[in-house]
Amino acid sequence: MIRVALTGALGRMGTLVIQELSKQNDMDLVAGLDIIGEGKPLSRDVTAAHASKIKEILSQTNPDVLIDFTEPNAAVNNVLSATENDVNLVVGTTGFKRDQLETMRNAINGKVAAVISPNFSVGVNVFWKLIALAAENLKDFDVEVIEAHHNQKKDAPSGTALAVVEILKKTLGDIEVVSGRDGSCLRGKEIGMHAIRAGDIVGDHIVLFAGPGERLEIKHQAHSRMAFASGAIKAARWVVGARTGIYSMADVIGSR
Ligand code: NAP
Repeated sequence: MIRVALTGALGRMGTLVIQELSKQNDMDLVAGLDIIGEGKPLSRDVTAAHASKIKEILSQTNPDVLIDFTEPNAAVNNVLSATENDVNLVVGTTGFKRDQLETMRNAINGKVAAVISPNFSVGVNVFWKLIALAAENLKDFDVEVIEAHHNQKKDAPSGTALAVVEILKKTLGDIEVVSGRDGSCLRGKEIGMHAIRAGDIVGDHIVLFAGPGERLEIKHQAHSRMAFASGAIKAARWVVGARTGIYSMADVIGSR
């Protein structure tokens, strides 16, 4: 049995990860932590523990992997606690600053295996590849990235949209990203970025390539957070057998 701990256990993603875990024959939830709901039942055997107890919970329950869907400051702390306890990682939290990513990378490398991805859906991983292909073939086209998410999302642009920018920059060079536009703003050679926050939208991303007389739009829409939860479970199963290091979802689904 793969022993799984979960941080952000009572959040939108955490709740779905627990549902998805309960359907797996080879996985057991051994711990769930959140800053709310201490003592709340998460499964038949596990109740929510307070987030501040992460170190003692990890050492008591000895999980093979920690899945994290929290917020950036919490996730960095959880990653450090996991690496101190030799627990592998699946990190789904988004919105990290550069120095936070660096801190996590330094803690993980040579210590445990970690899959870090701003999007665990299988479809988005193909979407990223299609963008690389389009960028390679449409170098002179204008590129705009449009993303839409629910009104509770804390970070903007989304981690998935930022990953799109990194992919585009590999082909187009280190060009400027212009977020939204207002007033006098003649377009230059830039990547336009637009973040919509409304209602209960799970996650839409469009990358628009426009040239003379035509445009190409590559679009992904997540209909349900289940797409992310089941991807995170796949990543957790994969990461317990992986060598130490940092991996992406492309490694998990074997599409690199
Ligand atoms: P959410 O509903 O706000 O859930 C986050 C949960 O983590 C909340 O219950 C929060 O408590 C809790 N939390 C905060 N600090 C914590 C700590 N130190 N330890 C344990 N739990 C803590 O958000 P969500 O929609 O589930 O999303 C969570 C993260 O995953 C976000 O960064 C989001 O962008 C990302 N995400 C990634 C993917 C992907 O595929 N990679 C997909 C969807 C979402 P409070 O509510 O009390 O603060």
